[in-house]
Amino acid sequence: MREGRTTGPSVRFDGVTKNYGAVSAVDDVSLTIDAGSFVALVGQSGSGKSTLLKTVNRLVDPTGGQVLVGEEPVAGREPYALRRTIGYVFQNIGLFPHMTVRENILIGQRIEGTRGGDVGELLDLVELPRDFAGRRPAALSGGQAQRVGVARALAGEPGLMLMDEPFGALDPVTRDNLGEAYRALHDRLGLTTIMVTHDMAEALLLADRVLVMSGGRIVADAPPAAMLNERQADEAEALIAVPRAQAERLVELEQRRENGAAS
Ligand code: ADP
Ligand code: MG
Repeated sequence: MREGRTTGPSVRFDGVTKNYGAVSAVDDVSLTIDAGSFVALVGQSGSGKSTLLKTVNRLVDPTGGQVLVGEEPVAGREPYALRRTIGYVFQNIGLFPHMTVRENILIGQRIEGTRGGDVGELLDLVELPRDFAGRRPAALSGGQAQRVGVARALAGEPGLMLMDEPFGALDPVTRDNLGEAYRALHDRLGLTTIMVTHDMAEALLLADRVLVMSGGRIVADAPPAAMLNERQADEAEALIAVPRAQAERLVELEQRRENGAAS
């Protein structure tokens, strides 16, 4: 449907701050996300990831600074109109149980905008059988429900996708499969994607660029290889240490078995 289209927009954060009373959820963040790139935003719980993400589609308006999507300040856009152009996927997507998959996918759309309401191509994109359109959410697995959530986010043909721990509640295999499938979709449709995750391994494996947040600030910003191979801020190193130790331990176990087999 949108294959071969031009790439999604760039996103610029310009001194973005969000205070909740005395709490500074986001503290003076400035950065540019290139059009068509896949950026992961990683950090511990409470570091400000979701708040920063929500400033893009105006679920949160900054206390200071501004956000620009494709050079245009979002502050000047009507929030509902803006959100129709930006896909948003979050954990436990919350499908309406009394509606069919088709109705759930089209819920944010004005029907005339989506080819008379045909969701077949959207289901193809997220690799669900077309006959799922008539099912109720109760008849879906967690992974299938999140795929419906991705289809719903894509229904408005957005160039930009915001994803907040989209696969966080899924079992590891389903999560890995969906992450890979989404990355392929991102490339195929030429999207710009910002994905929040607390999982550094997921960020390193999927993204072009990894941003680490701590205390409302970006404390590290690098492509995956540099994130791993160059010295980063302590908060980032602490997050990287987890998958690194796991990988080393697995290699060690594998070698032990090989040595055992050789003797
Ligand atoms: P993360 O997504 O990284 O877990 P959040 O962006 O949700 O972090 O939250 C960052 C900080 O802002 C936390 O201290 C959180 O308690 C606070 N916060 C977030 N949303 C609100 C809100 N609506 N009202 C008050 N405090 C909030
Ligand atoms: Mg969050």
